[in-house]
Amino acid sequence: MYVTAYFEDGEHHHNRKPHLVFVLANAESHGIRRIEPEPYTCECGAELTPEALDAGDEGKASWPNCKSWRNGGQKRCPECGEYPSIGREQHIRARGYRPTPKDEIKQVTARQREDAMKKTDGQCLVCDEEASYVVRMVPPRYGGSRELENLAPLCDHHYENYGHMFADILVPPEWNKIHGAEWRPLATELRDQFDELGVDGIVETLNQLLATDQEQEWDDPFLYLDQQ
Ligand SMILES: [Zn+2]
Ligand SMILES: [Zn+2]
Repeated sequence: MYVTAYFEDGEHHHNRKPHLVFVLANAESHGIRRIEPEPYTCECGAELTPEALDAGDEGKASWPNCKSWRNGGQKRCPECGEYPSIGREQHIRARGYRPTPKDEIKQVTARQREDAMKKTDGQCLVCDEEASYVVRMVPPRYGGSRELENLAPLCDHHYENYGHMFADILVPPEWNKIHGAEWRPLATELRDQFDELGVDGIVETLNQLLATDQEQEWDDPFLYLDQQ
């Protein structure tokens, strides 16, 4: 279920566009399938955990502070000394999701696009301007479906000037990948909003999560992100 939009803080390393984050509750209903996060594997067969990648490149000038290559790019494999090429599917698995192979992805049909537009009366999901694009909140490579639930009509501005991500409000560690975001204040705010609307099911779920959050450490599903 789409809950709201969250805007990631603007200023970034490497001129990345700021992200518009689709906040979902139960992203599984959008098609995602969660798995145990898997470390990268080099072409030589070596398992490339974040620690192995660090060990492979200590001589590099920016070690160990450059986040973009800590996230898996441009680091040598300590076994074979080569720069491994980490494919899209490995990236997705390392994040704890089952990837959909490219050749199994089905395009959104004209009819599905129309239905999505009807749902918002032709307006952008985020700002009420006229929508010109329909995107999948959970991208197809991540298993994102073509169902109405996963389709977001967007205006030119919210399509062109932002990168697009999703995060599940019911999965706290997923918020570690969102620059500057903190799960707890957002979950609390949403809990209060749902409470006012009288949506009891999700209020109860969020209350349970907020209580659990104070007691336990979550398993971070993002192996290659710096701890913030
Ligand atoms: Zn290797
Ligand atoms: Zn918009």
